[in-house]
Amino acid sequence: MSYRCTHYPIGNVQRNAKDVQPRMTGKFKQTLCAALAASLALIAAARAGECPRKDALGTSRILAVDPATSPRVGLKSFPQTLPLQDHEVVLTFDDGPWPTTTPRILAALAHECVRATFFVIGKPASEHPEIVRAMAAQGHTVGHHTWSHRNLKYMKPAAAMAEIDKGIAAVETVLHGTATTTPGTPFFRFPYFEMTPQTLENLHRRGIAVFGADLWASDWNPMTPAQQLKLLTERLRIARKGIILLHDPKKQTAAMLPALLRVLRDNHYRVVHLVPAVHKTVAEKTH
Ligand SMILES: [Zn+2]
Repeated sequence: MSYRCTHYPIGNVQRNAKDVQPRMTGKFKQTLCAALAASLALIAAARAGECPRKDALGTSRILAVDPATSPRVGLKSFPQTLPLQDHEVVLTFDDGPWPTTTPRILAALAHECVRATFFVIGKPASEHPEIVRAMAAQGHTVGHHTWSHRNLKYMKPAAAMAEIDKGIAAVETVLHGTATTTPGTPFFRFPYFEMTPQTLENLHRRGIAVFGADLWASDWNPMTPAQQLKLLTERLRIARKGIILLHDPKKQTAAMLPALLRVLRDNHYRVVHLVPAVHKTVAEKTH
């Protein structure tokens, strides 16, 4: 597997030139590329066979999520969530990519052969496309989290939909080279979990699943990595399972994650990787 650390080889040339100027210094970019390449090497080894580290946490199973049957999940916002067994957890990361922390998150996940779901924001995704491509290349699921993380509850319906669609198109451009508003992965999370009936209905009609969360680390509050680990593991001990919300741009989360993954392993939690359900056509079903 190879990975090219070049900026913006795909997508809208005009926008790339105007909005998406690289902001990283040459030295920092080299460091970032080295970190991404190192985590890719680990993933390549994992894909080739078993996880290269025998005592790694690993990914226990893949759960295909069908927006038709699971249109809204996460007990913090909705009455239902994903069908997880006792001690099964789903790791989700919001608000990235962020160049100083997301590669550290990816490296920690790769070290434990764990796959997660990232709900990325369109604007930073456009500015750091190499990180979003690394997420996808390393087998993680990339969902959507608007263009600029505005609170959609306080926007007019048309403007809120435009904010959602601009974010989807930006991420699709980065991943697939097409500014489509039909997402390859139909997973969406509202910033601040602030939703409106109109946006919920629109996403449902388009077959896009809306993700809440079952528990979180409250990592938007400043605290030490040790405090955050204690808070989250205590919440998980009570909940016993669920969709966990973290934020990859948070330094304290990047610092905490290796220890969290160890705690999960040592306490016999199992990580479930979400992917979108694939609908077979009639022709495919008959073969
Ligand atoms: Zn967010």
